[in-house]
Amino acid sequence: MLNDGEKGVVLQRDQETYGIAPHIPCGLVTAETLRKIAEVAERYQIPQIKITSAARIALLGIKEEDVDRVWADLGMDPGNVVGICVRSIKACPGTTYCKRGQQDSLGMGMTLDSRFHGMQLPGKLKFGVSGCPNQCGETSFKDIGLVGTVKGWRVYVGGNGGTTPRIGEVLVQRIDSQEALSIIDRIIEYYQNNAKPKERMGKMIERLGLTALEEAVGL
Ligand code: SF4
Repeated sequence: MLNDGEKGVVLQRDQETYGIAPHIPCGLVTAETLRKIAEVAERYQIPQIKITSAARIALLGIKEEDVDRVWADLGMDPGNVVGICVRSIKACPGTTYCKRGQQDSLGMGMTLDSRFHGMQLPGKLKFGVSGCPNQCGETSFKDIGLVGTVKGWRVYVGGNGGTTPRIGEVLVQRIDSQEALSIIDRIIEYYQNNAKPKERMGKMIERLGLTALEEAVGL
């Protein structure tokens, strides 16, 4: 039997089969990739394909003996669905497609994904990037969230869902993309150096105070 995370699998409720979720940065997928996923699902008689809340495409009910061949045939990397690391970067269409967009949330999301996806940290960490204050990227519920406004990015910290949901707080606003990325680097560094094992960003802020984080990132 495989452990959760081993070979990118999660054991399913039946205690026999596995689910996998290939890494699909910001949920952007091509027709070719969709075709490949469909072909693999048919080839290995995978009973369920599910679009997840993290904008991934999960294949559920895979037999253990098929796991290696499924990954080989897909030719894709596993998404970080479990583990103490940067899990998912959720980004809305922003100025690329949405008429309400005020900042390039997809571009920012893809940059964050390439820099941070899978990075090992004290606790799990999720990003949300929204191109305008409508927050379709669920920014306020993410450990680090960005909202686009006409004057630049607004950065939220400390949001999460789970059993004790928390709304993030505004750390800084009206900054451009380079400044936002620089501040996110410093937030991550502070979190790496100060969070207790498995402590989410919001809990760390409650323990140490938002002012300490503001000072650490140079605000
Ligand atoms: S958050 Fe704004 S820009 Fe993004 S999809 Fe929603 S309405 Fe469009």
